[in-house]
Amino acid sequence: NKTILLASRPTGTPSAENFRFETTETLPLTADHVLLKTRYVSVDPYMRGRMNEGKSYVAPFEVGQPIAGGVVAEVVESQLDTLPIGSLVVGNLPWQQYILSDGKGLQQIPADQAPPSYYLGLLGMPGLTAYFGLLDICQPKPGETVVVSGAAGAVGLVVGQLAKIKGARVIGTAGSDEKVAYLKQLGFDEAINYKTANIPEALAAAAPNGVDCYFDNVGGAITDAVYDLLNKHARIALCGQISSYNDAQAPVGPRPEGKLLKTSTKLQGFIVSDYYTQWPEGTRQLTEWYQQGKLQFEETVTEGFDQIPTAFLGLFKGENTGKAIVKVA
Ligand code: NDP
Repeated sequence: NKTILLASRPTGTPSAENFRFETTETLPLTADHVLLKTRYVSVDPYMRGRMNEGKSYVAPFEVGQPIAGGVVAEVVESQLDTLPIGSLVVGNLPWQQYILSDGKGLQQIPADQAPPSYYLGLLGMPGLTAYFGLLDICQPKPGETVVVSGAAGAVGLVVGQLAKIKGARVIGTAGSDEKVAYLKQLGFDEAINYKTANIPEALAAAAPNGVDCYFDNVGGAITDAVYDLLNKHARIALCGQISSYNDAQAPVGPRPEGKLLKTSTKLQGFIVSDYYTQWPEGTRQLTEWYQQGKLQFEETVTEGFDQIPTAFLGLFKGENTGKAIVKVA
């Protein structure tokens, strides 16, 4: 039974050396437990923060201890009536092939609504991040202009489609021409390759009426350019800052406060767990829109347990379109 541990804390961009594989015997099943076989592992940008020491909104991973995150697993042995053999569950679980669990914190996945891995993406944490960040913080109205950065990723492509459902005009930024073409095919009104475009010029051309809502996944130069285009009473959902997650020093840059002040912009940072009690409602609505064909989703699936660190590192090179998933078994 293989487990992936944090070998060391990265300085700057993480690498394969920060991870270590360990093989152990699977412990026998004890009373009131289940044995889970890992099926799909989610790799997510927030895990980079957990590799650092120090307090954040989730506790850091410990050196020498397993990495843990979103996992879909199948119950293969059971001493719990509530979780019969064959059930699929999603939970925060270690990067391990077989996991003993007391069932606490596990959520059963309905068999007939969507592919199981979607509970790590569209119908799980990233989809809910898009749902609450856009609909509660930005509250786009018909005809308004919404910009989303990191638009071709797990959160971003849901944000753009939700904004279209609400009748807004949607502009996305992403890191390749293939991603730009994909966003247009999904119904984005404009998409910009931030790696090849002049970002301020391209955004100004794409948003001739200014920007009413900005869903910020990325920070940095894209955010600087969006702040120059904000309309009066704009709303910003500050979701992520992936462009600086690997910076050893805090980034310096333009001071945007004056722009926010003059436009009476509302900016709110948020963590999806702020909405924890409303997650069932969010999942229900996202499932309904998915089943009605109003929401599409995309995954980049890497095969094999040993590839989990590689898939994680790929997030920082833009290797994924949609949700980055590792199919383990
Ligand atoms: P993604 O699926 O979007 O994967 C990461 C993507 O980020 C990459 O594919 C890459 O796409 C882009 N990226 C990587 N490095 C850079 C860079 N230096 N500059 C610009 N873009 C970069 O991840 P998620 O959808 O899961 O997460 C998106 C953001 O939302 C992250 O910042 C994450 O931390 C945040 N988040 C916040 C949550 C919250 O509760 N507040 C919850 C979940 C996510 P490209 O090719 O476009 O460069």
